Amino acid sequence: MKFDTEMMRRHDGRGPRYTSYPTALQFSGDFTESDYRRIALASNEELIPRDLSLYFHLPFCKEACWYCGCHRAITRREDRKDSYMRRLRDAIALQAELFDRDRPVSQLHLGGGTPTAYAIDALGDLMDSVSEYFNLAAPEQREFAIEIDPRTVASEDISSLAGMGFNRISIGVQDFDERVQKAINRVQSAAQVDALTRAARRAGILSTSFDLIYGLPMQTPAGFSRTLDEVIAIGPDRLSIYAYAHLPERFPVQRLIPEAQLPDAETRLDLFALAVEKLTAAGYEHIGMDHFARAGDELVEARNQGRLHRNFQGYSTHPECDLVGIGASAISSIGDSHAQMDPDIARWEQAIAEGRIPIVRGIELNRDDVIRRDAIQSIMCRGRLDMAELERRHEIDFADYFGNSFTALNRYVEDGLITIDGRILEVTEAGRFLLRRVASVFDAYHQPSTKGRYSRVI
Ligand code: SF4
Repeated sequence: MKFDTEMMRRHDGRGPRYTSYPTALQFSGDFTESDYRRIALASNEELIPRDLSLYFHLPFCKEACWYCGCHRAITRREDRKDSYMRRLRDAIALQAELFDRDRPVSQLHLGGGTPTAYAIDALGDLMDSVSEYFNLAAPEQREFAIEIDPRTVASEDISSLAGMGFNRISIGVQDFDERVQKAINRVQSAAQVDALTRAARRAGILSTSFDLIYGLPMQTPAGFSRTLDEVIAIGPDRLSIYAYAHLPERFPVQRLIPEAQLPDAETRLDLFALAVEKLTAAGYEHIGMDHFARAGDELVEARNQGRLHRNFQGYSTHPECDLVGIGASAISSIGDSHAQMDPDIARWEQAIAEGRIPIVRGIELNRDDVIRRDAIQSIMCRGRLDMAELERRHEIDFADYFGNSFTALNRYVEDGLITIDGRILEVTEAGRFLLRRVASVFDAYHQPSTKGRYSRVI
């Protein structure tokens, strides 16, 4: 594993993570509910309609973590959560009307907010509603995931979640260093996380994934090193090491973090380098960008076989599905379109009560978007781009179409991020940390100076 800190420093900057292309910044208010309904109904007429992937947004949390950049609402009021859950079930029925009943749901994701801010029984009722209206794929073909806040779940709950059909869990760890936890207002112990991970193994959960964050206030290499040792000892199957994005102008809660407590650019890089070094020494493989998985995990196999996919929830091993987002702020991605629901919880609930699907913005991809999405997906998921294949698939001449991208590509060749051998562009091992940088060469909308809108690459 080559980790060239000097090269990483040179390519730091802000940019999209390409969970979609075009990214959410390009969504427009001209895209309406009737566009969404038309596209959803048309997706049933494909020669082989895609499987469905359902994303549920459960926005409530008991208290705010100060680094948070999610669409969420802080509440301890059960009536508020109950009312949203009732509307979520109505929204399931509204969305189900648009899709042929025989289309299998092979992917499902409960995200937030904190899905586990709800009682386990309430989550069970939600899953019952899903199976009432949708055709859930056979257990061995499912990738059903739930995000877990370890402060809200007991070990016994994990087997209940497995009983509902969840076979993947994702645990927000961030950092075990107590000083960091206090500085971000999220105190949880390694023992809690360890107990949940053991419970997941006992319950037959196929994959447990941890999220860590570097660049948090009060973080030091010594403290983060201890966190990494504890994480490795617990042994999750997958890990994501995200860079903290300090954007207080967009996320007011982050103003509670004094800038003076944030590690400087050098230290951020040291923290990430430390994670790479420790994880690879412990046998984790680098999937791409900031994602790692144990050798033998299906994510590694999918990467090796060129079967990796990417959607709003990150990397996945499943073939591309039509993604149906349900809940305030959720994004759907159907065919060549993206559509976002109203992020305002009260307005979203009101619309659902009136039988409307409250789309507030979206985009229908044009031909250029489709071609560029193909190139960007290929780089983000396979770390390579076969120019001849792209030409065949879209009837273009690569050199004509992307002629003005070659200056940037050649710079990346000189820097050792990519190689170009004949018609094959291949991202090097070192370049895999900067996939989003390489992909951005094919992004027609990206302005490198879009300060404050995107997170930093490192
Ligand atoms: S980080 Fe997660 S748990 Fe914390 S406030 Fe944000 S959504 Fe809630």
